[in-house]
Amino acid sequence: KLFNELQELKGNIRVFCRVRPFLPGQGAPNTVVEYVGEDGELVVTNPTRPGKDGLRQFKFNKVYSPAATQADVFSDIRPLVRSVLDGYNVCIFAYGQTGSGKTYTMTGPDGASEEDWGVNYRALNDLFKISQSRKGNISYEVGVQMVEIYNEQVLDLLSSDNTQKKLGILSTTQQNGLAVPDASMYPVTSTSDVITLMDIGLQNRAVGCTALNERSSRSHSIVTVHVRGKDMKTGSVLYGNLHLVDLAGSERVDRSEVTGDRLREAQHINKSLSSLGDVIFSLASKNAHVPYRNSKLTQILQSSLGGRAKTLMFVQLNPDAISYSESMSTLKFAERVS
Ligand code: ADP
Ligand code: MG
Repeated sequence: KLFNELQELKGNIRVFCRVRPFLPGQGAPNTVVEYVGEDGELVVTNPTRPGKDGLRQFKFNKVYSPAATQADVFSDIRPLVRSVLDGYNVCIFAYGQTGSGKTYTMTGPDGASEEDWGVNYRALNDLFKISQSRKGNISYEVGVQMVEIYNEQVLDLLSSDNTQKKLGILSTTQQNGLAVPDASMYPVTSTSDVITLMDIGLQNRAVGCTALNERSSRSHSIVTVHVRGKDMKTGSVLYGNLHLVDLAGSERVDRSEVTGDRLREAQHINKSLSSLGDVIFSLASKNAHVPYRNSKLTQILQSSLGGRAKTLMFVQLNPDAISYSESMSTLKFAERVS
C-alpha cells in the first residue's frame, strides 16, 4: 500500500528509516532519537546542543522505531517483493554506517532462527512458495545469484570452487538480461535451498579475511532473485528480478589516517556510494540523464533502478549520541534521494 499510493511520484523511490536498538551491555547510552512518528517523521537531537536549537526533523515514507521486528518490516515490504512475480524489477538497499543494522535488516543476526530472518531469507522464501502455490496458467521458476563488489571487482559468492574469479558485467536493457551472466545461478525450490544458498553466500563472503565484519563492511553484497513466469496457455514469458543489497559502510574514513589498501577501499566505497546517490537522485528529480556508468554497483543494478522498476532504501541508524555526526550524514544522504 505504501508503494501503490505514491507510485507515480518520485520515480518509484521509497525511503524507510530503521533505528536499531541499543545492544545489551551498552550501558545507559544517550540517544539522538527524539521522536518517531506514525507517518514517517523522525526528530533527532544534537547531543552537543541540547534544547530546541539542536532538533532536526526528517520525513521519510516510513520510520521504524527500535521495537520493530523483522516480521513487522517484512510485512510492509511483502507487496513490493511479490510484484516481481508480475514482472517488475525491484531493488532493496540497506544504507548506513557500519554497526547501524544493515546486515541485520537484510540477513538477520548471526545464526538467526526463522523469527530473526532478515529480508533476504523472507523474500526468497516467500517468492519460491508463491511461485509454487500459484494456480492458474502461469508456471514460475525462481533462481538466485549472489555477488560481492569489493574494490570495484565483482566476485561470485555462490561459486563452488572459491576461486574468487572476477566477473564481467553486461549492460542489460532487456528485461530478461542477466547483468552478471557468469555468476553462479541456483534454482530455489524449497526452504532448505534458501538456507543452504544463504549459508554458502555468507561463508564465501568471509573467505580470505580474518574478520567477517571487516570485509563485509567494505564490500557491497547483492543477492539477485530472478523470476521467470510462463503462461502455459499463451506461451508468453515474463521476467522480474529482485536485487537485495547490503551496502558497504557509509562512514567517512579520515584520509589523513589511512594509507595503502585501506585508503583504496575507502576511495572505492566512497565512489560507489556517491554514484548510487547520484543515480537515485537523478531518478527522483526525473533528470533525462541518469549516470549509471560511474560504478559497478549502479551498472549491475541498472535494470532495477528507473523505468518501471521500484526502489526501496532502508536507511539504518545507530541511535547512540556518539554516532550523531555519521547519523546526520546518513540522514542527509537519504533526504537527498527521497
Ligand atoms: P551493519 O551491517 O550495518 O554493520 P549489523 O547488522 O551487523 O550492522 O548490526 C550491528 C549489531 O547490532 C549486530 O550485533 C546486530 O545483531 C545488532 N542489531 C542491528 N539491528 C538490530 C535490531 N533491529 N534488533 C536487534 N539487534 C540489532
Ligand atoms: Mg554488515
